[in-house]
Amino acid sequence: MTDAADLVLLDGTVHVLDDAGTTAEGVAIRAGEIVRVDKSDEVRHLVGVETEVVDLDGRHVLPGFVDAHTHMLDAGRQLRNADLSACDSPEACLDQLRAGRDERAEWILGFGYDESRWGGSYLARDDLDDVSTERPVAAVREDMHVVSLNSVALERYRTRMPDRDVNTEDGRATGVVVEDAAGVIYDAIDPGPERARTLLLAAQSRAHELGVTGVHDMVRRSVVPRVYRDLDLAGELSLRVRMNYWADFLDAVEETGLATNHGSDRLEVGAIKTFTDGSIGGATAKLSEPYRESGDTGKWVVPPRELRELVDRVDEAGLQLAIHAIGDEAIAETLDALAETDPSARHRIEHAEVLDDELIARLAASDVIVSAQPNFHKWAREDGLYASRLGDERRVRTNQLGALADAGATLAFGSDCMPMDPLFGVQQAVTAPTEEQRLDVTEAVRAYTRGGAYAGFAEDRQGTVDAGMRADLTVLAESPWEVDPSTIGDVDVAATVVDGAVVYDALR
Ligand SMILES: [Zn+2]
Repeated sequence: MTDAADLVLLDGTVHVLDDAGTTAEGVAIRAGEIVRVDKSDEVRHLVGVETEVVDLDGRHVLPGFVDAHTHMLDAGRQLRNADLSACDSPEACLDQLRAGRDERAEWILGFGYDESRWGGSYLARDDLDDVSTERPVAAVREDMHVVSLNSVALERYRTRMPDRDVNTEDGRATGVVVEDAAGVIYDAIDPGPERARTLLLAAQSRAHELGVTGVHDMVRRSVVPRVYRDLDLAGELSLRVRMNYWADFLDAVEETGLATNHGSDRLEVGAIKTFTDGSIGGATAKLSEPYRESGDTGKWVVPPRELRELVDRVDEAGLQLAIHAIGDEAIAETLDALAETDPSARHRIEHAEVLDDELIARLAASDVIVSAQPNFHKWAREDGLYASRLGDERRVRTNQLGALADAGATLAFGSDCMPMDPLFGVQQAVTAPTEEQRLDVTEAVRAYTRGGAYAGFAEDRQGTVDAGMRADLTVLAESPWEVDPSTIGDVDVAATVVDGAVVYDALR
């Protein structure tokens, strides 16, 4: 007789997400592994006295979402400080900052503002001085490449910031700082271990509410790796975390002998994360043709020669690379730098936003994974951010997910926390303005499940709902294939399962 299952889910629609498009009614799970996917009557045979039985009542089971590019500490900060992501005006941001200030903390912090929501300019020091003239105030733009400061914060840190990254108007600093100057502020607000633990646990809960079972977290110089290890050892990590270490960790990673895929089943070493350029929002992504407004072509954050040295070093060390490249010039440069690297290393380009036909063909022909963010399509609408920064012609050439998929590129989807919500990303991918930018629901869900699993060397155990795979599942109240595409983001997550354990439960 077959051993009983620990958990069975019955009477739903199970989307296996294999190439054949298989569906089933139920899933049986034992010791964290999927042991049967079949009709409910068949799965019911595995119910024993101690089996937990969940009636799906027509709900939909998908492989667990893998957010292949996220920032968990910042997601936690957004949850625990002023959340500016829904603010439609500078005034609304200031209200949130005032309401969210923590009297015990020194800084007043807000995260996730997007000035394209009010069609205007960045928050400036004059705005933020209205929040406080005594305490430092920082409002971080959602792309994290731009930070707005009040006068207290600006005056305190100005001398440590490179001039080129401090915006001025008529010789006076506006309070807006970018790139390395923003890095000075990140160092200043870096949390200690206790605070980091609180923030990461808040972000983990939020991820599960959104159906996320695994993340590739971009880990900047901080206590975060240590805190993650402590959480893993204490059995408090319910999310699968792959740490992509910022390049400033590289010496340490090499010296301590860490390699890609080292770790536990819950916490792994991922890639070394580096940059080439900035962002479209910050007008710092490196373009071949100038920005519509500023007339310049962006900035190298890591210049090409330095990038090549880093690529050679990381590739030789047998580590995976995750290279941020947004502008077409930066993407071309990154592909050049990766041309001679180990094809089995699964190196990744992060974002790859501004594309032309040649770049799409090059990405498809290479072994490089395109780690894209479908939610960035929210900027691709008429009168959106891309239109104002790039003009209409380039607006429709951003994030060409459909063209990339058709050409045979390997896609892995992530949120970059803008916002951390896979269903919102799927909705954006499915409703993008042009065919070249659009995917169908299956392709989009695959990139958010199998795609991330592949980028994490885990496609043999994650990314499909199949016998023998780990039981990482997302249960949805409705089918994203059946609802109006413009409402996919509103579909409720009913439950999230990681390794057979229900980590989020809105079923009952
Ligand atoms: Zn990012």
